[in-house]
Amino acid sequence: MRHKILNYINGKLIPSGNNHFLDNINPATGTVYSRLPDSEAADVADAVAAAEKAFAEWSTCRAEVRARYLNRIADLIAQRLDDFARAETTDTGKPLQLSRTVDIPRAVRNFRFFAAGALHFASESHWNAGTSFHFTLRQPVGVAGCISPWNLPLYLLSWKIAPALAAGCTVVAKPSELTPMTAFLLAKVCMQAGLPKGVLNIVHGYGNKAGHALCAHPGVKAISFTGGTHTGKAIAQTTAAHFKKLSLELGGKNPTIIFADCDFDKMLDTTLRSSFSNQGQICLCGSRILIEESLYPEFRKAFIERVKKLKVGDPLSKSTDLGAVISTTHLEKIMRYITLAQHDGGTLLTGGRLVKPKGRCRNGYFAEPTVMEGVDPHCAINQEEVFGPVVTLLPFKTEEEALAVANGTPYGLAATLWTRNLSRALRIAEQIQSGIVWINCWMERDLRTPFGGVKQSGVGREGGWEAFRFFTEPKNVCIQP
Ligand code: NDP
Repeated sequence: MRHKILNYINGKLIPSGNNHFLDNINPATGTVYSRLPDSEAADVADAVAAAEKAFAEWSTCRAEVRARYLNRIADLIAQRLDDFARAETTDTGKPLQLSRTVDIPRAVRNFRFFAAGALHFASESHWNAGTSFHFTLRQPVGVAGCISPWNLPLYLLSWKIAPALAAGCTVVAKPSELTPMTAFLLAKVCMQAGLPKGVLNIVHGYGNKAGHALCAHPGVKAISFTGGTHTGKAIAQTTAAHFKKLSLELGGKNPTIIFADCDFDKMLDTTLRSSFSNQGQICLCGSRILIEESLYPEFRKAFIERVKKLKVGDPLSKSTDLGAVISTTHLEKIMRYITLAQHDGGTLLTGGRLVKPKGRCRNGYFAEPTVMEGVDPHCAINQEEVFGPVVTLLPFKTEEEALAVANGTPYGLAATLWTRNLSRALRIAEQIQSGIVWINCWMERDLRTPFGGVKQSGVGREGGWEAFRFFTEPKNVCIQP
């Protein structure tokens, strides 16, 4: 049976006005398992109208009230963790274990974190003795548009929705058309939580239709977007005409820099994860592994041995390390990059082929975890985001060379350093062009810290008070006695 996903507008679950539905494919089986509304500008306009109407009350209610709703939503997701995890895995093809232990719990954490933030967010004040008192009144911007990608569908959606609601904005969200199911479950949870109608609206459909309409709608005052750099550019152009507030979290080509003095075992375990978690489809995955020359042979041997042991297959199986990639188009793109890298002089050390599991996943979209060497840092595979289970090994001689290669791409999202030399670690952290630097770890997140990239990896920062600042407009008020 095919589930029917509906839009969530003004507190109700409804189809799009045109009553057209798009197929939602399970990438692990290659079959259509649900259908989602093919929403248009008119549906977005209805959602914005509902959000505008709800704004007056939501933006002025006490912070405790908003925090209570967010915590209630978190509780309900946590209670239905298995349903959410299964929905995410069916939408994305990622291992169920990952959804259950990482992605969905992190979405719950997002709601709880920003619920707490709503209670503690404070604005600045300045007292000029006997002359004047200045304070900054931070007011919610209005209706916020939140657009999220398919790789971490609920986690990234909640990372936007939760701070927007906590700050007093009402929201129209557009999840990726490839992964709508967890957002649909979220809509049901919001109804169960009694969230006032119109406070959160979720419109499904294509990015270039529903997503574009959301960015172009004059009633939407801020757009928070996570996705590809190309889409980010298009959104920047659309929103510029309206002078909207804009936050863009975009692609990356992240370096993992390994020095010979690192803790080898910890580095090896973590580098395996940072390369292939979620089939390499995390914006923070390291896709270029730079290794100090003296360690290169040992690393290369140990890493390839470990990669060869990774199991690719049915995401529902507990022993699976890598599930399916998101779509057949994406699989083709990944394979194209591997072929291109070979043409560019690269050698396949392991992987490089499609995987055809037996049984229910025989028509799914699976690729082997792939490691290549011998590709010049300036070649496409080392410059462009592949967003798949493919890494290249790049030996280096000096710290300066490592830095030049690490910084030599148009991106600057995240970097990981492995060294026991603290002075070197801090020196590189200072000089590396990226928004996030992990030293001797990867994916450790403290939600209070600013999150985002530099160069073509984005504009603006999410997380902590940065998010509250984004979703509020500061007004400078001055009082004289
Ligand atoms: P896309 O840019 O293709 O899509 C992201 C979202 O934007 C989707 O909801 C999409 O809808 C929508 N969209 C597409 N076109 C438009 C448009 N013209 N106007 C408004 N919305 C639009 O990214 P992917 O979904 O393919 O996600 C992968 C990308 O996301 C990678 O580049 C990855 O690096 C990046 N990413 C960045 C992160 C970060 O924090 N920096 C975190 C996670 C991912 P639809 O799906 O229907 O096309």
